[in-house]
Amino acid sequence: MAKASKRQRPGSPIDADPRQLAEMIEKISRIGADPVAGISRVGYTLPEREAHELVGGWLRDLGLAVETDAVGNTIATRPGKSVETAAIAFGSHLDSVTHGGRFDGIVGVVAMVEAFRLMTANHIDTRHPLRGVIFACEEGARFGESSIGSKAIVGALNEGDLSRIHDADGHTLAEAMLDIGFEPSRLREARWNRADIAAFIEIHIEQGSTLEAQSRSVGLVDVVSGSTRFRMTILGSAGHTGGTPMQNRADALAAAAEVTLAVESIANQPSHRGVRATVGSLDVYPNRITIIPGRVDMSIDVRDLDPDRLRRASTEIVNRATAVCQRRGVTLNAELIADVSPVVLPMWLREVVSQVCNKLGAGYCVMPSGAGHDAQIMARIVPAAIIFVPCRGGASHVPEEWASATDIASGVDVLYHAVLKLDQILSHPPDRHLQGVSCEVGPLPGGNTPADDGPR
Ligand SMILES: [Zn+2]
Repeated sequence: MAKASKRQRPGSPIDADPRQLAEMIEKISRIGADPVAGISRVGYTLPEREAHELVGGWLRDLGLAVETDAVGNTIATRPGKSVETAAIAFGSHLDSVTHGGRFDGIVGVVAMVEAFRLMTANHIDTRHPLRGVIFACEEGARFGESSIGSKAIVGALNEGDLSRIHDADGHTLAEAMLDIGFEPSRLREARWNRADIAAFIEIHIEQGSTLEAQSRSVGLVDVVSGSTRFRMTILGSAGHTGGTPMQNRADALAAAAEVTLAVESIANQPSHRGVRATVGSLDVYPNRITIIPGRVDMSIDVRDLDPDRLRRASTEIVNRATAVCQRRGVTLNAELIADVSPVVLPMWLREVVSQVCNKLGAGYCVMPSGAGHDAQIMARIVPAAIIFVPCRGGASHVPEEWASATDIASGVDVLYHAVLKLDQILSHPPDRHLQGVSCEVGPLPGGNTPADDGPR
């Protein structure tokens, strides 16, 4: 990928430094390094907190005021020099899935640190305060529910949710928070006042291969997929594999296998074009070679850019699973564990970022995001933008995940200059004209639209 701007010409502003970015990523990757494979720095565990502490130290070294809120979000503030009180915010997350990679979320965090470093190195005093955020527990890998830290910030979580949401071992979110020293009863204190915040920008790896295929260094997201998730338990009868005749069985795994294929076939139907549906986990009990499986716990994740099609496909999956289990004489318990609508990000903010790309010579394309991000949650209270950088082969949530430091530096330059541009054009109280809209989408014609090429 082409670097967005030339490096350090005499007298020109200092650009993002790929070497510094690579060093930060390397240091973070040592925390939660999994002896089996990849990184396991799961939300609300000690390794996640250790990573927050490490980066919090770097932010303090840059002279920023750093605090941790009631649910574990780390927030760094750089004051503005004028009467502007609404902050321009940017950041991402440091938790990973189990056996995940070293770039998902991390890129947005090191980009935030580097953008702050550039502010100081280039002697920039912004009018607006700047707010760097490291969100807690973005990945849904442990609790099924994603973006816990950002949901607390926008007020989309209540204390009942913290007691209801639990991991596979039955640990509730509230218990997990208490275990590492947070106080779930102070949840409301984490909430941000929307008048205090003018815009939010997140850099993230693409987690797909569109940018690589199109040789673009930057992706600007217009729509973020919604997701609906279920936890299903199928209860049959365990029994001896030799002693139980085939016609007398209630095999929970055979039923789960049929449900899994039904999920795939529903997503492949032309009427659901654009839906992505996945059975991501199966826990089989007792999981022994000579025992007919008596119970299977499975998780199902459904995603789409179209909220109606998302819900239609999800309903059809539950109906089909119910029919399969009735026919096979096993019991189905289906629990809805998350349901987030797709989000259209405001065009005016994306255009500000695209103007910066043009100025820096960064080739970009406008594209949807199949994965969910904290910015999608932040968009509920503040105009939000997502900047994608390429990742090799589109691999993500796996140890092979990789993004080049040069590409990340290009993204940081875009972020840094976008923040400076916003600092110039935003006024306080926010100009209604510029605020644009952030709303849930109606049906999109054509579903997953291919990336729409922007000007180079
Ligand atoms: Zn992420």
